[in-house]
Amino acid sequence: MSFPDCQPSPVCSLCPRLHAFLEEQRAAHPDWFNAPVPPFGPDDARLAIIGLAPGLRGANRTGRPFTGDYAGELLYGTLKALHLARGAYAARADDGLELIDTVILNAVRCVPPANKPLPAEIATCNRFLKCELEKRKRVRVIVALGRIAHDAVLMAHGLVRARHPFAHGREHALPHGRVLIDSYHCSRYNTQTGRLTPEMFHAILARARQLMDRRA
Ligand code: SF4
Repeated sequence: MSFPDCQPSPVCSLCPRLHAFLEEQRAAHPDWFNAPVPPFGPDDARLAIIGLAPGLRGANRTGRPFTGDYAGELLYGTLKALHLARGAYAARADDGLELIDTVILNAVRCVPPANKPLPAEIATCNRFLKCELEKRKRVRVIVALGRIAHDAVLMAHGLVRARHPFAHGREHALPHGRVLIDSYHCSRYNTQTGRLTPEMFHAILARARQLMDRRA
């Protein structure tokens, strides 16, 4: 099977449950994006940030990762503070925000019901993540937002989970001289419960920036 530019079909049906859920959303919200959400960021980025999946009223509505929900406010605000993004983030795909040396991808491209993809769906969509990470040869540092993203990055690199357990702030050596940094997901739930503070999240991305520059 081949994927031109690593992009699934706009009506990809490899995951029947997610395909059916998107059909429901297209009927209910014809003005929403309602399709597999593509990566956001330049092709030659050295930093890749991996999220879980599009949020229903976030990326699934706007068509850009982390755009339109709380997680995006924290993520893009932090990237701007570290000079990894420029322009105004206005929670719309056409707000003109640009990422600098950074690309954002998701472990699963289609919005899952209740924000919970099934293991089989994560495994099925991994072909697109793998394709992106293989194509983007300049990527030196990968930040995984949450355990599912962490597992998806390992799967895309053919690594065994048992040897690389997830822990916030932990760094893992990947093939091709890459390093994976784990972070709790920047979701509203994690920040409201204090599991992830804005300072903790800033420290993760600052470390990523430091490693990118060391491995340039
Ligand atoms: S999640 Fe990925 S593999 Fe599954 S239907 Fe969507 S694009 Fe296709």
